[in-house]
Amino acid sequence: MTIYGGIEAGGTKFVCAVGTGPHNILAETRFPTTTPQETIGRAIAFFKGQEPLTAIGVASFGPVDPNPVSPTFGYITSTPKPGWADTDLVGPLKAVLGVPVGFDTDVNGAALGEHIWGAAQGLDTFIYLTIGTGVGGGVMAGGKLLHGVMHPEMGHIFLPHDRDKDPFEGICPFHKDCLEGLAAGPALEARWGARAETLPLDHPAWELEAAYIAYALANFTLTLAPQRIILGGGVMEQKQLFPLVRAKMRDLLNGYFQVSEILEGIDNFIVPPGLGGRAGVLGAIALAKCQ
Ligand code: ADP
Ligand code: ZN
Repeated sequence: MTIYGGIEAGGTKFVCAVGTGPHNILAETRFPTTTPQETIGRAIAFFKGQEPLTAIGVASFGPVDPNPVSPTFGYITSTPKPGWADTDLVGPLKAVLGVPVGFDTDVNGAALGEHIWGAAQGLDTFIYLTIGTGVGGGVMAGGKLLHGVMHPEMGHIFLPHDRDKDPFEGICPFHKDCLEGLAAGPALEARWGARAETLPLDHPAWELEAAYIAYALANFTLTLAPQRIILGGGVMEQKQLFPLVRAKMRDLLNGYFQVSEILEGIDNFIVPPGLGGRAGVLGAIALAKCQ
């Protein structure tokens, strides 16, 4: 029997699961992300009790090295997260468990999971964007997860920032007011002095947030011509954002993209994940499956 392991390696928690897909998860565990040694050790101990496994997939926070021919393949590379820069994730798993290990960014993994089981079934060019603690994007282009010199880092693009309307300077440690610096969950908390999940529905935060997301999606659409954009992550639990983002993106494009998907079908163009909050760990299982 073919059974896969998946690790959603996040900056605050690791989620590990064993199974074959959304309707067949046989075991699951989660624990906080502490030191690399302890955290990877806990993942290995979990899978040790679940053998035999056919393959494991790791969908990780980044930046990572997803290039299979690179000497640092399977590493978390230059992360600012203390203790985690230059951490080999894949090596210890392979060495101890002796199975093939698929590896990619958390968002590329989520994109693959959505492609197989979720909101991107039947599509070959689409984007999965998460807006949570950070902003990150995974891309499938022409049926393949997109990698170039590294992987897309769509959270750090630059947007028009009208400082009269929004004097908040942004919190990205690298760029201050990039998309992540203006629109990730911690940016909302810093701008408004309260966690995003506590802001009321009629708070001005949402109109501003939707505008930044819409600018980003317009830029991504003009660049990649995706067939769909999936928006996940904690901040997108605010479902009122979806109609605001759709309307604003259509205004920004101003009729330039003459395709029915955007002109008439925008409700199906910008959508939540089909796999909901499980897109991450199922994405990791998808990476194992595609080994
Ligand atoms: P992570 O990105 O760490 O995997 P999440 O996607 O849950 O985790 O993102 C966490 C961020 O999203 C926090 O900044 C939090 O304030 C925000 N967030 C979580 N849930 C909600 C919600 N229901 N509404 C608005 N913001 C939320
Ligand atoms: Zn940035």
